Amino acid sequence: MGLTGPALMLRNPCRLRALLRVPVAVTPALWLMGRQDRKMNIHSTIGVRMCALAVAAAAAVAFGSGSAHADPTSTMNGHPVIAFEQTVQWQVDGTTFWTAPGDATTILQDFVSWFATNIESLHEGGFDEWSWAEPQLVAPSYAALSNHGSGTSVDLNAQKHAQGLQGTFTAAQTAAIRAKVAEYSGRLVWGGEWTDIPDETHFELAPLLK
Ligand SMILES: [Zn+2]
Repeated sequence: MGLTGPALMLRNPCRLRALLRVPVAVTPALWLMGRQDRKMNIHSTIGVRMCALAVAAAAAVAFGSGSAHADPTSTMNGHPVIAFEQTVQWQVDGTTFWTAPGDATTILQDFVSWFATNIESLHEGGFDEWSWAEPQLVAPSYAALSNHGSGTSVDLNAQKHAQGLQGTFTAAQTAAIRAKVAEYSGRLVWGGEWTDIPDETHFELAPLLK
């Protein structure tokens, strides 16, 4: 949770100007030359240019080659970013979830209810269920927003089934989860199927068809 370094830098790019001004050693030399006015101009011009360079560098780090850009209005699966106030609140097993109205709530609520009854209780860890969350850039590309920002995904027992781990469910549980997910005819995706960074705690709505 929380913004990545580059994203944070992009939010306040000109804070970098303070770090990138001309070295102080230049100042006495310019004083000796009686060019205080020039010194001020150099500070200002270099500050602006370095700020622009720093923003470009931060953008390159955040968005890889620079060809991809995060769309602030939708998350990775194409569903629109929504505010917390737009979510629907529901509970399973005494745990509260906040998801987008419509399909997200219908499908995720049905799935989570089934999971709590057939796979395991939602009380395997501490407070480790997640649903809607502030939009944030996510691995591996850091070029798109997490589907938690559109209220179209949930994490269940996130400590036990932490992102990056494989085999956190038994073979029988894995088979049951796959069979249940298949019942939604491609509209629900399990992060446990991802090969780059497995995310067995995570279930999300499939990408919107365009
Ligand atoms: Zn998740």
